[in-house]
Amino acid sequence: MSMHRVAVIGAGTMGNGIAHVCALAGLDVTLVDSDAGALDRAVTTMARNLERQVAKGKISGSRRAEALARVSTGQLEDVARADLVIEAVPENAQLKYEIFTAVDLLAPEHAILASNTSSISITAIAARTDRPGKVIGMHFMNPVPIMQLVEVIRGLRTTDATTKSVMDMSRSLGKTPVEVRDFPGFVSNRILAPMINEAVFALMEGVAEAEAIDTVMQLGMNHPMGPLALADLIGLDTCLNILEVLHRELGDDRYRPCPLLRQYVAAGWLGRKTGRGFHRYEGKN
Ligand code: NAD
Repeated sequence: MSMHRVAVIGAGTMGNGIAHVCALAGLDVTLVDSDAGALDRAVTTMARNLERQVAKGKISGSRRAEALARVSTGQLEDVARADLVIEAVPENAQLKYEIFTAVDLLAPEHAILASNTSSISITAIAARTDRPGKVIGMHFMNPVPIMQLVEVIRGLRTTDATTKSVMDMSRSLGKTPVEVRDFPGFVSNRILAPMINEAVFALMEGVAEAEAIDTVMQLGMNHPMGPLALADLIGLDTCLNILEVLHRELGDDRYRPCPLLRQYVAAGWLGRKTGRGFHRYEGKN
């Protein structure tokens, strides 16, 4: 199926990046968010990130302008014109179920409905719609314009045709899609989230300071970024939500979220987006 129009629901950290890569690939994009301020911030962020690509010589100024011109902001009803809907609202199962039920009623029959969820069951999300064969996971990585991977998650009822369309579409964005099955955390967060959690336990138990934990993993394991800095980039609320899904769905205490992570989230120290997480970020809060 050829795709021309994409609707992105949720214009936060991930939504603006997804809109960015879709617009750059020549698709018309409508961004939807329940918070008007988030829409303004998303467009500003996208313009700035595209400018950065121009400065680095990766794209021309005219491609930047064309990409920005393809992005509009709108309402949930605008999914009525979309070939593909990509949901990127917070990692909360109930919220995602409600959005998929609503979008299923509004989107055209041919449209594929994708979720950028990090850990929630695609099969369960699909069951809230009358088109489970056309529901799939498209798990982009943060920051979306830079990261190569799209983890494509096949729910139990996702069809071959839907999977092929989404694999092809991901390639047309310049990404490398990898198909995985629908189990909690898929591959990426089944492995990453426990590592981040263990780093937070090490911090809580006083094994080392945050800076030292990150340096050990960067220099010792050749990770480009330490686990606590990565948690700050992902958002500590998102990390906690993912661990809660793994703990509940897999029923194993090795996934229990570290109490220190809960405490930081309760304090509103969510990482880069609030200016403070395990590290502090200049110029905010
Ligand atoms: P975020 O909090 O930065 O953005 C979420 C946006 O959704 C906000 O702008 C919010 O206003 C909006 N929203 C909330 N309720 C809404 C509604 N009912 N309708 C429309 N918009 C609504 O979150 P994020 O980090 O972008 O995460 C989004 C999804 O992507 C989550 O499922 C998360 O697990 C997943 N994800 C996140 C990362 C990451 O590194 N942050 C990486 C991969 C996947």
